[in-house]
Amino acid sequence: MKYVTSLACINCGREYEPKPDKYLCSNCGEEGLLDVKYDYQEIKRDWSKEDLKQNYERNIWRYLPLLPVDPATTRPSLQVGWTPMYQSKALAKQLGLENLYIKDDGLNPTASLKDRASVMAVVKGQEGGATTVACSSTGNAATSLAGNIASMGGDMEAVIFVPERVPGGKLAQLLIFGAQVVKVKGSYEEAYYLSDKAIKKWGWYNRNAAINPYLLEGKKTAVIELAEQLNWDMPDWLVFSVGDGCTIAGAWKGLYDLKQIGFINRIPRLLGVQAEGCAPITESFKTDKPLETTSEDTLADSIAVGSPRNYRKALEGIKASQGSMINVTDEEILEMMQLLGQTTGVFGEPAGVAGLAGLQKMVEEDKIESTAEVVTVVTGNGLKDIVNAKRATDAPLEVKPDINELEKYLVKGEL
Ligand SMILES: *Cc1c(COP(=O)(O)O)cnc(C)c1O
Ligand SMILES: [Zn+2]
Repeated sequence: MKYVTSLACINCGREYEPKPDKYLCSNCGEEGLLDVKYDYQEIKRDWSKEDLKQNYERNIWRYLPLLPVDPATTRPSLQVGWTPMYQSKALAKQLGLENLYIKDDGLNPTASLKDRASVMAVVKGQEGGATTVACSSTGNAATSLAGNIASMGGDMEAVIFVPERVPGGKLAQLLIFGAQVVKVKGSYEEAYYLSDKAIKKWGWYNRNAAINPYLLEGKKTAVIELAEQLNWDMPDWLVFSVGDGCTIAGAWKGLYDLKQIGFINRIPRLLGVQAEGCAPITESFKTDKPLETTSEDTLADSIAVGSPRNYRKALEGIKASQGSMINVTDEEILEMMQLLGQTTGVFGEPAGVAGLAGLQKMVEEDKIESTAEVVTVVTGNGLKDIVNAKRATDAPLEVKPDINELEKYLVKGEL
């Protein structure tokens, strides 16, 4: 918190004291998302890459100077962050690239990038004196909140609003972590508004990434981390799938922070990827028109957000990086789930691989050169959604327990 100077409205610029439960600009309402401001000169003076080399804390807290938390606040005990990054030659070749890195954020404790935001919610909730934290979510935000709250050992409680179409794996996680789950008979949009009303009515802490400015600060650690893993030598492109827009906006913030404190000297271009059946942010990016709500017609549930709220920050970041946006079909997503798995051993959920599917298209359309160095973050683990994983693959070979029969398949070349 030492380096946080204020919360500034992205709409009118008005600044506020950085209180834990200050979510929106009092002037601008829902338009007035807030951005956490830092004193970069001070951070620069106190913190160096050398300090990081001496720091053996392998989680997001190693970046404490760039996080808006009081170091004294109790933190969830799960290890969030410091997920592995792999260079994948086989997948690169398949996509027609020379240099491709995959950061597997599905290896976070509750198996998605959302853990990075949820730990922030738990810490800020405590700083604000709350014992209950609530959110509405298509799944991962909720499961990560539930898991991180559970790790507090009973001191706090999670209330979760999920839309009807939440995949089984995610719902199972919520229930195992002991959260109070409210399955709303309706869309994500309707679940969101119900949670919003309940949060206001009962004074719970708000873990809706759509409006809570601190959550984006947690998500930005994915990019700070990958920058450090690349020894601060940034790639040409960074690829993320986009639902609400908070993740890619966080990516931009991480890059901006690192540039300001001189840890990196060039900013990669951001590629945002949406599902064709739910692409309001791509539409606004391409047409330069105000965002219009769309239907949520995709199997990639984590990015099925027809009425995103972080799109302004997302669009600003993508444009400032001279980046781009593209859409992918459900079929392309399913194909990529299998291709990624086969070539890297990384298992991503549909939204987790949508970025890669978009990257493939960009290379095919010559919008990204084969010589470009690219980093993609796989944002969620495929075990969360095995229904779609099964759709992405062929049925296994079925045989009687008989070696001769098995040999027939071998002769036919099917084994
Ligand atoms: C939430 C999520 C995203 C997208 O993040 P937004 O902030 O909604 O844009 C992508 N992939 C997975 C697995 C997610 O859970
Ligand atoms: Zn404002």
